[in-house]
Amino acid sequence: MSDLVTELMAEGLLVETGQRGGARPGKLAIMLDIDRSSFQIIGIDLSDSADFRGAVLDVGGSIQSRVELPLAGSTGQAAIDQVTSLIETLLTLLTVPLLGLGVGSPGIVDLAGVVVSAPNLEWVGVPLQAALFERFGAPVMVASDANAAVLAEHSFGGVEVDLMLVRVGCGVGAALLLGGILLHGSRFAAGEIGHVAVGTDGGELCGCGTLGCLETWLAAPRLEAKLADAAQDATPAAPHDNILREADTRLGIVLARIVGALNLSEVVLSGPKRLLAGSLVEATRGTLRSHTLERFHGGLALRLSTLGDDIVLRGAAVMVMSSRLGVS
Ligand SMILES: [Zn+2]
Repeated sequence: MSDLVTELMAEGLLVETGQRGGARPGKLAIMLDIDRSSFQIIGIDLSDSADFRGAVLDVGGSIQSRVELPLAGSTGQAAIDQVTSLIETLLTLLTVPLLGLGVGSPGIVDLAGVVVSAPNLEWVGVPLQAALFERFGAPVMVASDANAAVLAEHSFGGVEVDLMLVRVGCGVGAALLLGGILLHGSRFAAGEIGHVAVGTDGGELCGCGTLGCLETWLAAPRLEAKLADAAQDATPAAPHDNILREADTRLGIVLARIVGALNLSEVVLSGPKRLLAGSLVEATRGTLRSHTLERFHGGLALRLSTLGDDIVLRGAAVMVMSSRLGVS
């Protein structure tokens, strides 16, 4: 143990924080802590449709500086070039050595950090983790934005070990943490609930070709377009609330099946506050209650994430801390 501590102190990762009476009389224990100021982490969030967002974080996961780069509709290689350029800018803001780079990408990402599919960026099979490692020569971790977000919620949101995090943005995705372990699925698409059709009453055509996918009810652009249409409609009893209630109900129906199958204790929603706050959470909670058995699932907590728009950036930092230091 003392060899290991000496090694970590030599690397500047551990510091002594004082002494405390030990278990044996006359022997003082030396208190150690991770030195949060000795290294910095670069976190990247590619999940916003308008901007790529990046930040420099300390080893405790606190944001120290941030940079945003307008995506301006870039896709394919142009979008990869934007990621590189964002990282180059962030590197100039470092004040201590870099511990590693963490990236939260939209879509489906495998365990080697290959973006299997991210339709909005027109990425198919992009080996982002390997490409960034080659370009920058620093440790890189790439995961889906939902998986990064669930890790942030687990580390900073004070949650229990069983948790589902639902992200509402351009699409709808989710990540599952069971017994403290992230679930990936056989094709790395665990939690891809956005393209599950909800109900047998049709619905709008989804980008994937199916009618009535959860995304057609709940994805931010669809919901915002419906609300904008409703606002122009002069008829009394504006359907604003009805639109949100319909979206919540569909979300509740999908969540009820997952909660029922896995007996989850907590579901956290992350996404635009203007869409998710207030009645949406209430209505989803109501649907969940009426669709599950109170005796087994009555204690389920459903709430909005408290980490706001920084959830993916901070989750990307957790990925680096966990892979480099074994802590999260
Ligand atoms: Zn679909």
